[in-house]
Amino acid sequence: MISRLATFIDVSTEELYDAYHQMEQLAILDGMTKLYNRMEIQRRMNEAMDQIRSKGANGRIPANISLIMMDIDDFKKVNDTYGHTEGDTVLITLAKVIKETIKDLATNASAGRWGGEEFMFLLPNCDQEHAKEIAEELRQQFAKNTYPTAPSQTISLGVTEAALGEDCDIVRIRVDDALYDAKHAGKNRVVVR
Ligand code: GH3
Ligand code: MG
Ligand code: MG
Repeated sequence: MISRLATFIDVSTEELYDAYHQMEQLAILDGMTKLYNRMEIQRRMNEAMDQIRSKGANGRIPANISLIMMDIDDFKKVNDTYGHTEGDTVLITLAKVIKETIKDLATNASAGRWGGEEFMFLLPNCDQEHAKEIAEELRQQFAKNTYPTAPSQTISLGVTEAALGEDCDIVRIRVDDALYDAKHAGKNRVVVR
């Protein structure tokens, strides 16, 4: 009887743990792309910037942190011309390219969906030259994809590196400005600020 009770408690604890883990994942992931949601990527950005600030304060040389922000070009046209479902396929494809890039080129990076068709990539231990190379790789890999009805699509990307002691918001605004520059320079390109 006691051993059956112990087994029951074991199984229930495991199920509870699984349920807790699932809820935890739901709270930090974007439902469609399964990348981090905006709250989680923002939390990770704050944490990373705080870390380089405190490392700098200790007098030690801090690690570099870079950000890449990207946005699908003329995405509204995809929805308007080929439908929302095709638009969703394009979004999920970009998420897949981002995940593959993390696996192959930047294993300690985090990526999240920042808004509709905008994504943020946080790269710890990465200077802006390396981040630029990763951004260029993302741009090229995404452009190679084909879709059921829509033609191949492109993204614009902004890149920046956090300077010592900078506030997270300032770095975020700069990467947003770099993305804005990429759009205004004709889209389908990487701009570093
Ligand atoms: P730009 O090159 O300047 O970025 O132009 P754009 O058309 O990509 O930008 P705009 O901001 O005008 O349009 C973004 C579109 O993204 C509008 C919105 O309907 C679409 N969108 C946002 N979230 C989703 C989504 O989850 N699924 C689909 N299919 N579309 C989405
Ligand atoms: Mg867009
Ligand atoms: Mg946008």
